[in-house]
Amino acid sequence: MENTLPNCPNCNSEYTYEDGSLFVCPMCNHEWTKESEAEATAASMVKDANGNILNNGDNVSVIKDLKVKGASNVIKQGTKVKGIKLVDPEDGHDIDCKIPGFGQLGLKSEFVKK
Ligand SMILES: [Zn+2]
Repeated sequence: MENTLPNCPNCNSEYTYEDGSLFVCPMCNHEWTKESEAEATAASMVKDANGNILNNGDNVSVIKDLKVKGASNVIKQGTKVKGIKLVDPEDGHDIDCKIPGFGQLGLKSEFVKK
């Protein structure tokens, strides 16, 4: 069976187990509630400019002209971006994608919409 329990937020151990309404980490004895886990998950969700939740593989469009580091062209407002991939934010760029003419690059979720 696939382990769907969250990793320990304290030590990132993957040996979390459930104890009633709590998650417990046997590695560092950290305990946390399922509610706080749900909140953390909600906070980590990536949302577009309209507050819609983005998922891997979504198709989005760019809501304003975006400058690209090292490129002479801008990504035009309305550019369609297919099959986005959500990544850990780096410089606020939390979407990894391929844009024709630009190649692989990072976008900020606040500048796209579904
Ligand atoms: Zn732990």
